[in-house]
Amino acid sequence: MTKAKPLIAGNWKMNGLRAEAVALAEAAAAAAAASDACEVAVFPPFTALDAVAGVLAGSPVALGGQDCHEAEAGAYTSCISAAMLADLGCRYVILGHSERRHGRRETSETVYDKARAAFRAGLIPIVCVGETRAQRIRGLGDDAVVDQVFGSVPYAEGPMMLAYEPVWAIGTGKAATVEDIARMHDILGGVLDALERDCEGSPILYGGSVSPDNAADILAADGVSGLLIGGASLDAQAFGEIIRAAG
Ligand code: PEP
Repeated sequence: MTKAKPLIAGNWKMNGLRAEAVALAEAAAAAAAASDACEVAVFPPFTALDAVAGVLAGSPVALGGQDCHEAEAGAYTSCISAAMLADLGCRYVILGHSERRHGRRETSETVYDKARAAFRAGLIPIVCVGETRAQRIRGLGDDAVVDQVFGSVPYAEGPMMLAYEPVWAIGTGKAATVEDIARMHDILGGVLDALERDCEGSPILYGGSVSPDNAADILAADGVSGLLIGGASLDAQAFGEIIRAAG
């Protein structure tokens, strides 16, 4: 079986007015068109999704939302449903990012419900998991991550991805080592097996201080099927270099 191309995913978080988002999307589309060694996806803020969808039409870059609500519709002021994302042309949705789990106290149960909503709308959820620095120091990191997967990932229900994002590595400039990443991805592969999800069908991304300098090494680590990138995805040149590193 041929190995699937890695996914290089850029999470722009709450950054960029529409003009900046359009410029970033144009640069990502150009970099992706010049490399067929990877898949590329960008996750603009909700306010820029429509404008970015226009830029990406006909390009190889996929569009994704940064979150969705677990309900299909209703009285949920400020929230966005999975169907609304699909309607804008999204293929993916990020769920359970640490900035929601720890920043907004989102539980694994909520992430699970959101993942089911994503499946119903035909989106591919990218479910983020990762241990905090305190859990790691106390030797509780592996259990915390495994618990998050069991709590957040619906049993064999539709195509999805996991993203291993150690919280202590996000935005700190200190990525996990290739050995740590390979070890955790091996553990996560076992958990997905237990959930009757084979790794081929459920790729596992790594995220946390990925840069043009470390991208190729991390992508070469056992069990790594792509990268979820925050800060470096806001720099068109750095994101382009990471796309090229996947080749
Ligand atoms: C993230 O927030 O998902 C992330 C990986 O951020 P950064 O690349 O900036 O560490």
